[in-house]
Amino acid sequence: MSEILVVVDHVDLPEGVAIKKSTYEMLTLAARIGVPSAVFIGPKAKGAGVAEAVKRYGAQRLYVVDDEDLKSYPVAPKAEALQQLVEKTSQSGGVGAVLITSSAEGKEVAGRLAITTGSGLITDAIDIEAGDDGPLTTQSVFAGSYTVKARVTRGTPIITVKPNSAVPVEADGAGQVDEVAVTVSEAARGARIVASQPRAVTGRPELTEAAIVVSGGRGTGGDFDPVEDLADALGAAVGASRAAVDSGWKPHSYQIGQTGKNVGPQLYFASGISGAIQHRAGMQTSKTIVAVNKDEEAPIFELVDFGVVGDLHTVLPAVTEEVRRRKG
Ligand SMILES: Cc1cc2nc3c(=O)[nH]c(=O)nc-3n(C[C@H](O)[C@H](O)[C@H](O)COP(=O)(O)OP(=O)(O)OC[C@H]3O[C@@H](n4cnc5c(N)ncnc54)[C@H](O)[C@@H]3O)c2cc1C
Repeated sequence: MSEILVVVDHVDLPEGVAIKKSTYEMLTLAARIGVPSAVFIGPKAKGAGVAEAVKRYGAQRLYVVDDEDLKSYPVAPKAEALQQLVEKTSQSGGVGAVLITSSAEGKEVAGRLAITTGSGLITDAIDIEAGDDGPLTTQSVFAGSYTVKARVTRGTPIITVKPNSAVPVEADGAGQVDEVAVTVSEAARGARIVASQPRAVTGRPELTEAAIVVSGGRGTGGDFDPVEDLADALGAAVGASRAAVDSGWKPHSYQIGQTGKNVGPQLYFASGISGAIQHRAGMQTSKTIVAVNKDEEAPIFELVDFGVVGDLHTVLPAVTEEVRRRKG
């Protein structure tokens, strides 16, 4: 079976490396189509800790690319490093696919990697299975109106995978660590990071990764307290419609939809959101959708699993209270 390279999605913190759940999800998908290996582009000294973590999700090997010479630049050097790793690994047996998280950065890295390796690219996969001619992916496109199966027909399949596409399954890996030396071209150093500021800590999960998202729209009237209280009771992230963001009630980073973020949680809770097509585009792949809206004709009710016709300022506090009561 060929090796499947999973690029470790992480945040480098002073005290260690926070590995994102999407990494474990991709390792689980990788095991379905080949032998999973992980690729960590980060500080060499933290490689052993990462190896221990990915080993628990079946990684047979961890390739460590020290980022000392790469971290001052945006994505181009990462794509070059992966290209060199794919070429080296191909010489020693063959890479069956490269899986990268479907974030803005992940998709740019994947696009560059596909071009430099002469490979086909599939973005925003929500599932991957083994096919007769290589990995077969599932995508949800045109605002969720179509489900598409696709496969790469040329080169090494480069696939970006949406967070929450699989339930991570623990598996025994070998966790062998291989340090990989890469060279970065002058062309890849064409843009340099001059300042970097971590986002303010909210204590809530990252929107695109959260298993549960509670969103508010114009129907909140600008009062997000009931939305945030429910989110905190459920351990969820908070999202917003564009109407709420345009009104200045929440920053743009909260916006879900065509011109905002794309989420696919296990549970999406829409409150005071009408369900415009542009909003649906960012949340329609959620596993279970619940909506609270006082208008029973609101289009959001066309796609919900559970709908409540009512005022969110009454319904949400009642749900929050019940969640807290059941959690004890
Ligand atoms: C090019 C383009 C891109 C866009 N991109 C996005 C995008 O990325 N994301 C996005 O969200 N939108 C986007 N939009 C805007 C989109 O078309 C809608 O205008 C927007 O989603 C509406 O937001 P909303 O549902 O909060 O507000 P509304 O459509 O005004 O709906 C508010 C809902 O709240 C309900 N309500 C009111 N009061 C209460 C209450 N007390 N309790 C319960 N329910 C109540 C109402 O019945 C209504 O259904 C885009 C539009 C364009 C043209």
